[in-house]
Amino acid sequence: MLLRNITWKEAEKSLKNNVIVIPVGSTEQHGPQNPLGTDHLIAEKFAEKLDAVVLPTVPIGVSKHHRFFSGTIWVSYESFKNYLLDICMALKYHGVTKILFVNGHGGNTSCLSDIALQMRDEHVFVGIYEWWRSIPEKIVKKLYPENTAKYLGHAGSVETSLNLVLYPELVKMERAEDVDTTWAPKKFGGIITCETKEFTDCGVVGYSKNASAEKGKIIFEACLEELKNLVEYIKEVKI
Ligand SMILES: [Zn+2]
Repeated sequence: MLLRNITWKEAEKSLKNNVIVIPVGSTEQHGPQNPLGTDHLIAEKFAEKLDAVVLPTVPIGVSKHHRFFSGTIWVSYESFKNYLLDICMALKYHGVTKILFVNGHGGNTSCLSDIALQMRDEHVFVGIYEWWRSIPEKIVKKLYPENTAKYLGHAGSVETSLNLVLYPELVKMERAEDVDTTWAPKKFGGIITCETKEFTDCGVVGYSKNASAEKGKIIFEACLEELKNLVEYIKEVKI
């Protein structure tokens, strides 16, 4: 149920005793083949499939590390956090006690964790779901048997495959690139700790050329099942 499509009378009934889902993402470079909206577009597709009340998508996040690529739009950590905290507090005002962020962008993660801790003190549970953490291991190994890590990076094969199944008209596969990054920013706390341009010229981190809609379908369905189970679990659990 999309909040933007229902009336306040319906919201009065639906908000209490329900899980409220907030899709969040970013508007940032995703290599030469993927749309800038990749992270929020994917989060939105997951959220729309859920048996929950779904808020409008928050499309711009913490993305300054991609700023050397045109079209990347970011807000500060503080702005993002305060904006989402205000949304959570508005939900609390309406009697909501269970919120789930469906996040499509790794750069938002620490901010969302901060919000969850702060809302805990307000007696509101805030969970964070991130699709790339929920792909079952056996599926990753089956699709990428030789080296899973290099396909999972930013704008890599996995993310591009999701776009190919969810938004095929927006992907320019002929421009996809395989990039051997020369150093591993993960060692230093992830790509958010440096400028993306320092280790990739085209914006892809890892390999993206073998992306396919078939892979995307398998990944999307497996992650969606995990997410649906999570929503059911949150519904049942006593806060
Ligand atoms: Zn992304």
